[in-house]
Amino acid sequence: MSNHRITLIRQADAHIDALDPVMIVEQAIHTCRDMVASASKEISDIRLAGGEAGEGMDKVKEAYFNSEGKSFPIWFGWHERNPDRALKRIETRFNEIIQRIDKGLNIRCRPATGRRSGRCDKDGFAYQVGGSIRARKFHLCPKWFNKEFEDGGHALKLDNNVYRASIIAHEICHAVGGLGTRDQRLAPCVKVYNENKALAFAANEPLKAAKSPENVEQFLVYRERVRQKPESFIRMPKADDTPPLQWTGVPANPDTAVHHPNGNIYFFKGDRYWRYNPTTFQVDKANARIGIDGWAGVPHNLDAALLHPSNGKIYFFKGDCYYRYVPGVGIDHDDTRKIGEYGWAGVTPNIDAAIMSKNKSHALFFYGPYYRTFSFGSGRAGALMHIRDTRKWGQFDYLYGSFDAALMNEQTGHGTFFTGDHYQMDDMAGYNTHFGS
Ligand SMILES: [Zn+2]
Repeated sequence: MSNHRITLIRQADAHIDALDPVMIVEQAIHTCRDMVASASKEISDIRLAGGEAGEGMDKVKEAYFNSEGKSFPIWFGWHERNPDRALKRIETRFNEIIQRIDKGLNIRCRPATGRRSGRCDKDGFAYQVGGSIRARKFHLCPKWFNKEFEDGGHALKLDNNVYRASIIAHEICHAVGGLGTRDQRLAPCVKVYNENKALAFAANEPLKAAKSPENVEQFLVYRERVRQKPESFIRMPKADDTPPLQWTGVPANPDTAVHHPNGNIYFFKGDRYWRYNPTTFQVDKANARIGIDGWAGVPHNLDAALLHPSNGKIYFFKGDCYYRYVPGVGIDHDDTRKIGEYGWAGVTPNIDAAIMSKNKSHALFFYGPYYRTFSFGSGRAGALMHIRDTRKWGQFDYLYGSFDAALMNEQTGHGTFFTGDHYQMDDMAGYNTHFGS
């Protein structure tokens, strides 16, 4: 027996194109509870993996940043200095949502038009009466029943029930109360609705993002997408998969990857490296020691790497330094070279990943949800851009940032972006070089 009160306002059924609306609402509430409970447990597991407060914080932070799809830093702020506190904040919010569901929801399904339509305007899916703070009644518009992921052509389709459930979570987030649970403004008169705005909001105001109903909603949908392993989030194949799939044997959470003039691709992680043969799709040398089994003089725990398009040398980036490696020889300098001072003018330190453009005229450097380009022609770097800049569509629409490594496929012109234990691809058609301004 459900403890939720679900009512159809008169004439609602004429506008709701569904056989059993009450059952659909019940199912969405049930799914919402499952999604939130599972997310809360995952966050709690990550938090507890770090031990008592003050101990093992590095471990917590590592787990936090390497969690599935790096989803927590993505939706709830990249710049959090205290991961334990950030995780607690998100966990608390999810637990409040669960408690609110268990108390029983009062939901009204309205007609689309007429006197009883309330605020079911063309952009609305759901709302509460009496503003957005501690609302008691939830109102669902007919559009909610047909809610689908609107991004046409997007490969990451999920069941409608997931989208409906995530909107329920959004509305409950308002209902658990507090000024922080209002729909946030990203800019004057622009509310944070949709995935791109939620991402930008998390980057700009990480402390508020945990309370943003839209970030909670988008996080839940994103998490389902990663969990259901759809096409665009490709899980790294296991080493013994037969026949070998692309990137077979490549380690999860690599530090960086780079093309070698010999045609192989090398992945680096900690003090180890892996040699990948792109024609057989397999790693043919695994877990080799950097500096001992090859790559003389190359430091451990790298950030990023690039094969220079004209001089054939490989540049490794780590912290605020870079190292120039001559294939077959080793690092060809003894001095310390600071990124942006000695070379790579305008490029800033602590790079997550770097990739060459298809025509090799420039490189792209990624930092969390941001990137900047570097022109080999002018020897200058462009401005820092958000990969989902809401002012400009068609950048990296399907990527989320926080990459471990990135590689350009010269044949296809597509970039492969490695994050945790999966990868995504992008046609690299839309990004902005943003030079000279
Ligand atoms: Zn809202």
